[in-house]
Amino acid sequence: MKLDVNVLRYLSKDDFRVLTAVEMGMRNHEIVPVELIDRIASLRHGGTYKVLKNLLKHKLLHHDSSKYDGFRLTYLGYDFLAIKTLVNRGVFSSVGRQIGVGKESDIFEVANEEGEIMAMKLHRLGRTSFRAVKSKRDYLRHRSSFSWLYLSRLAALKEFAFMKALQEHGFPVPNAVDCNRHCVIMSLVQGYPLVQVKELQNTNTIFEKIIGIIVRLAEHGLIHCDFNEFNIMIDDDEKITIIDFPQMVSVSHRNAEMYFDRDVECIIKFFSKRFNLSFEADAGDSDSDSDAESDSIKPRFSSIKKASGFLDKELSASGFSRKEQADIEKFTLEKIPGSDDEEIEEEEEDEGEIQNFDSLCSLTNDEEQVKACGNSGDVEEEDQQQLSEGKQPVKSDQVKDDDDDDDDGGDDDDGELAERLAKQRRRAIQAARAGRKSNNGSRNAYKDKGAKSSHNSKIQKQQMASSNW
Ligand code: ADP
Ligand code: MG
Repeated sequence: MKLDVNVLRYLSKDDFRVLTAVEMGMRNHEIVPVELIDRIASLRHGGTYKVLKNLLKHKLLHHDSSKYDGFRLTYLGYDFLAIKTLVNRGVFSSVGRQIGVGKESDIFEVANEEGEIMAMKLHRLGRTSFRAVKSKRDYLRHRSSFSWLYLSRLAALKEFAFMKALQEHGFPVPNAVDCNRHCVIMSLVQGYPLVQVKELQNTNTIFEKIIGIIVRLAEHGLIHCDFNEFNIMIDDDEKITIIDFPQMVSVSHRNAEMYFDRDVECIIKFFSKRFNLSFEADAGDSDSDSDAESDSIKPRFSSIKKASGFLDKELSASGFSRKEQADIEKFTLEKIPGSDDEEIEEEEEDEGEIQNFDSLCSLTNDEEQVKACGNSGDVEEEDQQQLSEGKQPVKSDQVKDDDDDDDDGGDDDDGELAERLAKQRRRAIQAARAGRKSNNGSRNAYKDKGAKSSHNSKIQKQQMASSNW
C-alpha cells in the first residue's frame, strides 16, 4: 500500500475532525451514515460534506451508498489518524521509505526531530488471514470492514506490550517506543531477516542461540508461534534480534506443545537446509523425527521448567483483557492440522461473534477513548432492552448535543445492528432458559463500567474536545 504522507500536510483540522468522526461512528456502523458523521464532527453549517469529498479524493475514506449514504475509513485513513496522533505526541516527525512488507503489515522508516530513525509497523489484519478465515467459516459475515480496525489495533497493542516486556527481561528484541491504534513504533534493527542470509560465520553458535531463545521464552511462560527465518533479524556481527509478536501465546495454551515443537522444527529445518548443519546424533538425516534426534537437539517442552502467568500479567498491565487476547488469537494463530483448534472454534463461534461485537467499542488506545469504551457497553445494554420492548435501538455512537433529542437521523436502516442485537438477545434468553450461568466477561463487561448513556455523550464530547486536532 502506498503511504503518501505528503497528503498529511494538506489536511486541515476539519479534515481530521471528520476523519475521527468516521472512526467513532465505525464503533457501531460498518458504513457510517453521513448525517451521523456530520453530527459527531459538529462542523459549521454544511462543512462536513465538503470535507468528506476531500477525504474521499485522498482515499482516506470509502463511500458506500448501497444501503444509505455513508462512509467508512480505509486503511490509509486509519494510518493517517495514527500517524497524526504520534506526530502530535512528538514521537516522530517524518515518514520515510518502506522497509518491509509482512504478511499482514507494512513497515516504514520514521525519524524524529533529532534525526533518529525508527521503524513504524502498521498492522493490516485482514489483508491475508481474514480472507482465509472468512472462507473457512465466514466468521466476519457482516462485519468484515469494521472488525479489521479492532483486530489490527489489538495486534499492535499486543505486539507493543510483548516487545516491551521481552526487552525488560533481556530478550534481543527491538526497543518498543510507542503505539497508537494499529501502529507500533520501535527501534530500527540494523540487519537483515535470516532468510536473506546465505552464509554464517558461526552457524552452530547462532543455531544454539536461537534454540536457546525458544527455550528461554518457554521458561518465561511464552511461545512465539511464528519463530522462523523471516522473524529473526541478524546483523553483520551476527547479532540476533527477534521480531513479530502479535501471535505469541502462553505455555498454558491448549496447543502449547505443538506450537513450541513447530517453532523448534522450523529452525532445525532451516539450518539444515540452508547451512547444511548436521546434527551429530542424527547421522545425516536432519529431517527425520527419530527419538535420537529429539533427544540430541530438540528441547523437550515437557522438560522445560515453565513460569506461568507472565503473559497474563504483562498483558493485563498494558490494558489487555483476556477477551481481547482470545479475540486476537483467533486471527493470528495458524491452525495446526490435527489439533483440536477447529473443533473448539466451532463451539466457540457464537461466543466469538458476541465478544467481537462487544469489543468494537474500543477502537483506539488513547486514554480518553478507553474511557469511552466502557460507555459503549452501557448503550448496548440499553439497545438490547429497547429491542426487547420492540423499540428501535438507539445507536451508542450518536454523539448528541444536550438539547438534541432527535437521534434517528440516517440510522434507521441499520437493520444489521438490530439483527445482531436481536440474535444476541435470543442467545441470552436461550442460555438463561438452559440455566447457563454466563461468566463471560465480555457479555457482562458493561455492568461494571459504570456510566449511563447520557454520561456517555458527555464523555464522547470531552473526547472530541481533548483530541489534538
Ligand atoms: P509481519 O507480522 O507482517 O510478518 P514483521 O514484523 O515480521 O511483519 O516485519 C516484516 C518485515 O519488516 C521483516 O521481515 C523485516 O524485514 C522488516 N522489519 C520489521 N520490523 C523491523 C525493525 N524493527 N527494523 C527493521 N526492519 C524491520
Ligand atoms: Mg513476520
